[in-house]
Amino acid sequence: MKTSTFSFLLLVSSLFIFAASAAHATQRKAQHIRTLPPEPEIERQVAKYQNQYFLESLSERKEVAITFDDGPSAYTLELLKILKRNDIKATFFWQGKNVEKYPDIARQALADGHTIANHTYSHPHSKTLDVDTFWNEEVGRTQAIIKDAVGFEPALFRPPFGEMNDEEIELLKQKGIYLIGWSIDPKDWSMSDNKDSSQQIVDVVNKHLHPGAIVLMHDGMYDFGINTVRAVERMIPMLKQKGYRFVTVDKLLELPIRLKH
Ligand SMILES: [Zn+2]
Repeated sequence: MKTSTFSFLLLVSSLFIFAASAAHATQRKAQHIRTLPPEPEIERQVAKYQNQYFLESLSERKEVAITFDDGPSAYTLELLKILKRNDIKATFFWQGKNVEKYPDIARQALADGHTIANHTYSHPHSKTLDVDTFWNEEVGRTQAIIKDAVGFEPALFRPPFGEMNDEEIELLKQKGIYLIGWSIDPKDWSMSDNKDSSQQIVDVVNKHLHPGAIVLMHDGMYDFGINTVRAVERMIPMLKQKGYRFVTVDKLLELPIRLKH
């Protein structure tokens, strides 16, 4: 091959690589679950219900939303103390049956400025439910319980296990309820109960951190709860040091917190 031909090919291929990477940089339009292998069903639903179902913000602002599922419980009280001490607001996706048990914790979280959202009544695999049961026994029932406790129905919902069928999503859309997944899952629930695994949780968040992240953790009454509490305490300075601002999911995605009626 002549040198001039070689240089020409080199020029063409580098132009191609440049164009491809520029397109990648400007077109960050796909949403990802950053810590899991792609879940085709969730990706399909997020793409189909683009303005209703979110896994992260696509903004490049250094903002992160810390979220807790399954509570409230005694661990929620520990988390509220840490969050208050650090002047940080978080988002809680709660089960109706636990809000029934601990309405005072729900009111305290609201008074502290946190966002309260729906995570069904009993944490079922919703996909297998018919849509009436899904609403009457799970989501609608929890809307009413949360309204009793704090005075309004939430506009945000997270499906247990990330599982829902399209009919359920469409029902929630009609009701004006937005669906929130996550982009970082440190699997706090999978850590050993017997030793302090909080650093492991922090390491996963650190490794996958990105602007607009939604971090999934748990505040149910679980044996691993103390690990989650410790992890949050350790995570805050790490995120602050990296220049991240803590926001609630509604702020991150510019969504309402409450339904209007
Ligand atoms: Zn859950």
